[in-house]
Amino acid sequence: MSSCDKCGKPAKVNLHYNATALCEPCFCAQFEARVRQANKDFKMLRLGDRVAVGVSGGKDSGAMLNVLAKMAPAIRGLELLPVTIDEGIDSYRLPSIKCAQELCNSLGLPLATYRFSDHFKAMDDIIALRNRKKAKKGSPSKNRRSCTYCGIFRRALLDRAARELDADKLAIGHNADDVAQTFLMNLLRRDEGKWESFSPSSGGYGGFIPRIKPLIYNPEAESPQYCKFKDIPFYECKCPYSSESFRGEAKRFLNSVEEKFPGSKFNLLQSYLSLQGKVEGGDKKPGRATKCGKCGMPSSGKECMACMLLGELNG
Ligand code: SF4
Ligand code: ZN
Ligand code: ZN
Repeated sequence: MSSCDKCGKPAKVNLHYNATALCEPCFCAQFEARVRQANKDFKMLRLGDRVAVGVSGGKDSGAMLNVLAKMAPAIRGLELLPVTIDEGIDSYRLPSIKCAQELCNSLGLPLATYRFSDHFKAMDDIIALRNRKKAKKGSPSKNRRSCTYCGIFRRALLDRAARELDADKLAIGHNADDVAQTFLMNLLRRDEGKWESFSPSSGGYGGFIPRIKPLIYNPEAESPQYCKFKDIPFYECKCPYSSESFRGEAKRFLNSVEEKFPGSKFNLLQSYLSLQGKVEGGDKKPGRATKCGKCGMPSSGKECMACMLLGELNG
């Protein structure tokens, strides 16, 4: 067994992207230090903040909540308000919500649950409806992917939850891989105008709740390891609709590049961070606050994306 590159004790983890070996305490300390560094670099948490924290029961959000709870005592008045979204995906979401609940119980934090079915429709019903509409000529729902509905409705519901909990900001567990994937996807789709919306500390424009990504420097592969070392329960199953996702393709591509050229994902992330704001449209911010005429939530047009999608499904 190799020894830890930091303290010389027996190593438990090998990090291929920078060819280092770490023992359990040094690995956990590095994982937590990256979150602190992101907080410092992007000025994420402030004294007295009420922070809604999106927790799914997965590895990333579990690790994030645990680190934020450790950081909280040093940030006077910081309050963490965990929120979970039940999308209504049978056999997939309930076990993960159980993990989120267990973690919140162990940290002594109340977990608020928001359900798609109470505000929109359950994802399983949405997909059944979309599939029926696929047969209809000219139906706008025809080419919509599952993740489009899920992402837009989840974003809208997290925003609503943060607002109802009177939170100043919303923390989400997007890790370094997620941000690198989103950057690549936006390049492939020429969505330069969306760069602002996935930046490490974004929003607060146009009436939207500011979003922070404390795990921006943490590679995805390290979250499960951190959770295991810290006894954080998490659910690992794959969503039954994930095969439809564009993100899945971007992820497979980046993972294969990373395997041959270690460090590529971090390099892509760094390229995004240094290009942010330098490319025309890259720092475009949503316009002035407009309220959706249907649901009253912030929107860049007369109708928010969630209401537009719901209208299509019901039409
Ligand atoms: Fe939702 Fe797509 Fe994620 Fe499944 S894979 S939970 S449909 S965003
Ligand atoms: Zn060590
Ligand atoms: Zn709306």
